[in-house]
Amino acid sequence: MPTELELLAAEAATCTRCRLHESRTQVVFGQGSPTAEVMFVGEAPGFHEDKQGLPFVGPSGQLLNRLLAGIGLRREDVYICNTVKSRPPNNRDPQADEIAACRPWLDGQIRLVDPNVVVTLGNFAAKTLLGTATGITRLRGRTYPFQGRVLLPTFHPAAALRAERGGRGSPTLQGMEEDFQHLAKLLAELRPSPPPSPEPGPEAGDTPGDGDQPGLF
Ligand code: URA
Repeated sequence: MPTELELLAAEAATCTRCRLHESRTQVVFGQGSPTAEVMFVGEAPGFHEDKQGLPFVGPSGQLLNRLLAGIGLRREDVYICNTVKSRPPNNRDPQADEIAACRPWLDGQIRLVDPNVVVTLGNFAAKTLLGTATGITRLRGRTYPFQGRVLLPTFHPAAALRAERGGRGSPTLQGMEEDFQHLAKLLAELRPSPPPSPEPGPEAGDTPGDGDQPGLF
């Protein structure tokens, strides 16, 4: 029996709600654990994602993998998707009507995966989910309540890669590393603490002389 998330993905695969369906190779719905504690939301598929049908598999994805590994997470532990599920031609910015047309797919993913933490990558995802015009540089560095969850905005990995290539060191990458440390802390706080280990002491029926000492029989 397919899960609700699989059914939603199958429905999205034939979506023609916006003009992006005309130029895409395929819909890039999402990837990862369907019960992930943390969901990453990027902007839109790029060249590699459009070809492979998977989110964040190009250079931005490599950096995302490294940042995840830095806090002990693998891609399979999280859920990764985008604000817009079809590649905009020539990697142009997604337009407001395209983001709006795609929104029900994203809302469905959030409802069904039901993560505790949503991490937005870059301006588009943060602005879309927080419903704000404020840019990522001002938004990041703190969390926001979001649909009974926690939303943590960070930069887009492509921005960190661009800054690195520009030889400016990378305050953007440094900012992302800080945000991932923040994420690790949040996840640790959200994990239920293990039950206290039982006090060592006499067990029921463990009375002296009842014959349970080793080596007597
Ligand atoms: N950039 C994004 O925002 N998403 C991807 O899937 C790849 C690159």
